Amino acid sequence: MERTTRIMAARKNIALVAHDHCKQDLLRWVKEHQAQLEAHNLYATGTTGFQLSQATGLDITSLVSGPMGGDQQLGALICEGKIDMMIFFWDPLNAVPHDPDVKALLRISAVWNIPVATNRASANFMMSSPFVDQDTVIEIPDYDRYLAERTQ
Ligand code: PGA
Repeated sequence: MERTTRIMAARKNIALVAHDHCKQDLLRWVKEHQAQLEAHNLYATGTTGFQLSQATGLDITSLVSGPMGGDQQLGALICEGKIDMMIFFWDPLNAVPHDPDVKALLRISAVWNIPVATNRASANFMMSSPFVDQDTVIEIPDYDRYLAERTQ
């Protein structure tokens, strides 16, 4: 598919997700970056969002819990261009019941070319990028053009 671009505003829509064994690690990371995160719109899967907002007071839009469809909700938002970045501490050492949803979420993030951090180190690298706090252009699939050409 051809590519086009979209502008991510300086105020990003950031998704936060952690599997159960990784939630404490994400909470610690969020506390370390709280001042920076406050300048952005935060989204999370249900339990992650509840725990993070309780512990930090951050304003977080919580979706349904991951195993109940939260990963799929996030995927839908990504398709609509409503999520700009994702920090997803997924668990490489324990199986989760919704593994197909996890895979789908990671896949759709790649399709729509959003930055994804899957662990503490990559999250640190991502948040230290100057692009996080300024308008940024990313390439995305030109789906509108695909539709237009398909109907010719
Ligand atoms: P949770 O979901 O935040 O509701 O625990 C996370 C996930 O497993 O995707």
